[in-house]
Amino acid sequence: MFRREVLLGGVGILCAVGIAGRSQADPTSLVTTAIAPGVHVRRGLDEDASAANGDAIANAAFIVGRDAVAVVDPGGCLADGERLRARIREITTLPIRHVVMSHVHPDHIFGAGAFERDKPQFIGHARLPNAMAQRGDYYRATLEAILGKGHAGPLVAPTRLIDARARIDLGDRVLLLTAHGVAHSDCDLSVFDPVSGTLLTGDLLFVGRVPALDGNIKGWQNELALLKTVAARRAVPGHGPVSVSWPGATADLERYLDVVLRETRVAVKRGLDIGTAVATVGQSERGRWKLFDDYHGHNVTQAFKEVEWE
Ligand SMILES: [Zn+2]
Repeated sequence: MFRREVLLGGVGILCAVGIAGRSQADPTSLVTTAIAPGVHVRRGLDEDASAANGDAIANAAFIVGRDAVAVVDPGGCLADGERLRARIREITTLPIRHVVMSHVHPDHIFGAGAFERDKPQFIGHARLPNAMAQRGDYYRATLEAILGKGHAGPLVAPTRLIDARARIDLGDRVLLLTAHGVAHSDCDLSVFDPVSGTLLTGDLLFVGRVPALDGNIKGWQNELALLKTVAARRAVPGHGPVSVSWPGATADLERYLDVVLRETRVAVKRGLDIGTAVATVGQSERGRWKLFDDYHGHNVTQAFKEVEWE
């Protein structure tokens, strides 16, 4: 019930699920995979946030250069960020100078507090501050309701905003950042490491887990088309395996967005109400995605609102 209200309320997203229990996440150390030299990724679980998983449900990565480290998504809560930081310190003593927050969703940003002691640049899309102002308190309260009071972590404001493109120099590698148009969310930022040929997409790419639409479905299609022109060999999706082929791994997401948009347009044209559309659109995608029933209806609702005024 809480989930439905939250999602259909238009502000809920990946973390916003009420699950009983207040115990802390498993404190065992965080596991990362080196998917390319200097590029390390922690795989998020294909689950909703819970006390048991500590909101460690999104992929989190760090890139080690000659002079410094850049984190790309710092984890889903303060303890998750602390574990990520501890893992970085097992690998390198180089300074952590950059923490990229790929977008506003809580599973991607609430670990940022663990890195404040490093005094890095906290980097976000130019629209991230506005998104945080609108939703930050709500996200934090929701996460505290799941993890227990005091365990979400602070909402860390970005100190460097990107409105188009930007670079992060790690010494022997320069990361290229792109601020995207409204797509998965209204503040999506991607990171490309040309040295390793790795594209970190944030939630512009979902693999295996059903996509969550919190921005604009046509915008997402457009940004995905642009992103596919990046000459990467592999990508790190926001949710899914730590490394997937690029751009081949976009196929399922593209099909999903195409089906939802096309069938929603038909539903609107036929004069179906939104409830009927939610129950009928995109059902061929059922069984192809984890957590389909948790997010698909919300996605159709979003798409319906988008296309009914076309
Ligand atoms: Zn997201």
